Amino acid sequence: MSVKVRFAPSPTGYLHAGNVRTALITWLFARNQDGHYLLRIDDTDTERSKTEYEEDIESSLIWLGLDWDEKARQRDRMDRYQELIQKLKDDGRLYPCYETPEELALKRKTLLARGLPPIYDRAALGMSDEQREKYESQGRKPHWRFKLDHAPIQWDDLVRGPVQFQGQDLSDPVLLREDGSPLYHLCSVIDDMDYHITHVVRGEDHVSNTAAHIQMFEALGVVPPLFAHLPMISDKDGGKLSKRLGSMSARDFRDTEKLEPMAIVSLLARLGSADPIAPFTSLAPLVESFDISKFSKGSPKFDMDELLRLNEKIIHQTSFDDVTVRLAQMGVPDLDESFWNAVRPNLTKLEDVLEWWRVANGPVEPVVEDPSYAEQAATLLPPEPWDDQTWKLWTDRIKEQTGRKGKDLFMPLRLALSGMAHGPELATLLPLIGSEKAKNRLIRHKKAA
Ligand code: GLU
Repeated sequence: MSVKVRFAPSPTGYLHAGNVRTALITWLFARNQDGHYLLRIDDTDTERSKTEYEEDIESSLIWLGLDWDEKARQRDRMDRYQELIQKLKDDGRLYPCYETPEELALKRKTLLARGLPPIYDRAALGMSDEQREKYESQGRKPHWRFKLDHAPIQWDDLVRGPVQFQGQDLSDPVLLREDGSPLYHLCSVIDDMDYHITHVVRGEDHVSNTAAHIQMFEALGVVPPLFAHLPMISDKDGGKLSKRLGSMSARDFRDTEKLEPMAIVSLLARLGSADPIAPFTSLAPLVESFDISKFSKGSPKFDMDELLRLNEKIIHQTSFDDVTVRLAQMGVPDLDESFWNAVRPNLTKLEDVLEWWRVANGPVEPVVEDPSYAEQAATLLPPEPWDDQTWKLWTDRIKEQTGRKGKDLFMPLRLALSGMAHGPELATLLPLIGSEKAKNRLIRHKKAA
């Protein structure tokens, strides 16, 4: 059987972390199996769906390195949905309901107050023709529900193992709105059928939907695909992801946090699986080692610090050639390979390089509180060429000559050389600043660069 999967985001917001994970795991599954990856835009909610979000989904996937073999949009398939709606109506599997949202909310509330699950009571099925005519004459339009069989529903979930539901424990899902337009459940099942999807990989928030979908596939006369439901990500203490993290999107990781796409990929590809999380610089080894059965059904913990550590390790493995274009876009086209190699071990994010570059090349506003110490230190600077030993050589001499040590020794030097009390390691920085600029900054030369 050749594998065909789909990633089916709704373009009603930016692609958030949970969706990135579904997109990635579905993609790894497909690529590991030499399968086919369909990007399906679930845009049945015409009011909330926006082109801007669809574009964001695509650019985020591209940024993450996830390509797709085919793309489909639900709004292009309305005629097809109508055909099958007619079939389901003819077969008696779709029935009209006239309850208003307020009436439904009240039923729900009453059931919950009595400690009962809020399952739709199928009152519409017992409606008399008279009642129906009355509603119609009042101008009410029906929404339509799928009539579930009250029978056991089961499947072998690739992540959760055997799953079982009873049809009677579920509400008949609403498949059509009052205006006759189809909703997610119906479109999703028809698409999965028409595009010959073999495996549906999605979040565990869809588990009970799957139970209903299985009966819908059967009502349409096809064998349902296989299912894998990934657990929701929790925060590092096991609680629900905070609003900030939960709504963090791929574009936030890219544009605000300025993280490497492979850091996100490295974390999300293995979060919750038996394979260890490690910093990967390409997708190939993740594709190679991917195995959906290694994912557990327990909720994995997302830790921003872990993401930053991965980012740092990935940056430390990134060659100059791989960042030249980005450095130029960041406004430092002259930053060369030796500079990159010197500062790279000190970077957590690529953008950190900018601070090093500025401190090395200026402009720097030296802070000199004790000019005579700074001047004395300037005279003790070793002759060039400088390397990563120069700082030690220099400060040893200063210690000898002045008797200063520790913070008293180095803080005035840091403040004079960088203008800041914190910042890049001076041992690395000093050779990049060079003798002339270092002297100028220490003696507060008028044109300190
Ligand atoms: N559009 C749905 C969602 O984003 C798709 C779920 C599915 O994969 O079927 O939740």
